[in-house]
Amino acid sequence: MRYISLLGATGSIGTQTLDVIRNHPDKFRLVAFSIGKNIELARKIISEFSPEFVSVKEQTDYETLKSEFSNNIRFSYGDDGLVEVAVYEKTDVLVNAVMGSVGLYPTLQAIKAKKTIALANKETLVTAGHIVMESAKANGVDILPIDSEHSAIFQCLQGEAEKNIERLIITASGGSFRDKSREELKDVTLDQALNHPNWSMGAKITIDSATMMNKGLEVIEAHWLFNLPYEKIDVLLHRESIIHSMVEFRDTSVKAQLGSPDMRVAIQYALTYPDRLPLPTGNKLNLAEIGKLHFEDMDLNRFVCLKLAYEAGKAGGTMPTVLNAANEAAVDAFLKRKISFLTIDEFVEKALEKHHRITHPDLDTIKMVDQETRAYINSLL
Ligand code: NDP
Ligand code: MG
Repeated sequence: MRYISLLGATGSIGTQTLDVIRNHPDKFRLVAFSIGKNIELARKIISEFSPEFVSVKEQTDYETLKSEFSNNIRFSYGDDGLVEVAVYEKTDVLVNAVMGSVGLYPTLQAIKAKKTIALANKETLVTAGHIVMESAKANGVDILPIDSEHSAIFQCLQGEAEKNIERLIITASGGSFRDKSREELKDVTLDQALNHPNWSMGAKITIDSATMMNKGLEVIEAHWLFNLPYEKIDVLLHRESIIHSMVEFRDTSVKAQLGSPDMRVAIQYALTYPDRLPLPTGNKLNLAEIGKLHFEDMDLNRFVCLKLAYEAGKAGGTMPTVLNAANEAAVDAFLKRKISFLTIDEFVEKALEKHHRITHPDLDTIKMVDQETRAYINSLL
């Protein structure tokens, strides 16, 4: 039996994690979880899974839930609550499925508490990859990827030596606007951007997929998870999202991981690694039915955010922190209909240009740069 803590239980990855736990009650038990503001769903999760500890974002929601449930459940709220869930004593594995760099501090605390981390929250690695990976190494903690591309690479790397890796090939579906020219992106609406062709995900990552920032964040995430230079990490447009990513080895052999687009495969693998379990309601891949798979090179002039992410990643220091914070703030503004779609990458580029890079930032520096960058983006609105 593995005891699970879950940050972001009400989100897209969160609810799919609950599905994996629900499918295997003899293997997993949800002991603690956090949510943002969706207390309606939190009530249902509490009733179904009987956790011991629950945290919400707002104090008022905390007081509401506390008055509704028996004393068997402990409640908390705010940033402290996220950490309490992350380090909950009985927890074996922390699933971090919160959105944004708010996931960083709880992850670091969980690593110190020697919890295995199943990581969906890519912003954590983008904003402070060096701190997270160093701490994981020092504490002997595994960071198991949930992001489908990284899960694919991780699966391809089983039994392989690091010295034999030639390059990683991260596949990209292309997002909602893959067939539009940059000119045509001028007038796209929020509703169009939220309509992803292959995956159903949270709002922020769906916009990141449309701008291709998601792939940029994933390149940086891969750099940290697999300890490879950016020159060895490529992105390939693959519209069917059947090959989730590939690894090329030095003898030119390429390994790929395939499957129908279903995040529960990656979530479950992170929870059962190195073992596997059946996925009772999973869609089996039928290649004969699919017939053809397509691949194209990425055009970095068309997908500006991907170019910016490579540049920020290679520059290192605080540049990825700025990239991430500017993007989070700009996407938030787009979701609130305050800016147009193309303004997102414009703002991110401006923030990167304005920032004076700090090398080897510590946690306090990262926090400060994150806040300053968000304030700068908000000042542009
Ligand atoms: P969602 O927006 O669907 O869910 C986010 C979750 O985090 C919700 O439970 C939300 O609570 C909670 N939350 C958001 N902000 C805060 C905050 N400030 N404090 C506390 N809780 C907060 O996102 P996704 O599930 O799509 O994505 C989560 C992470 O996983 C992201 O980092 C994303 O990039 C990554 N990821 C997602 C994939 C997907 O298929 N969805 C694929 C690969 C990676 P509430 O809703 O209650 O307010
Ligand atoms: Mg992904």
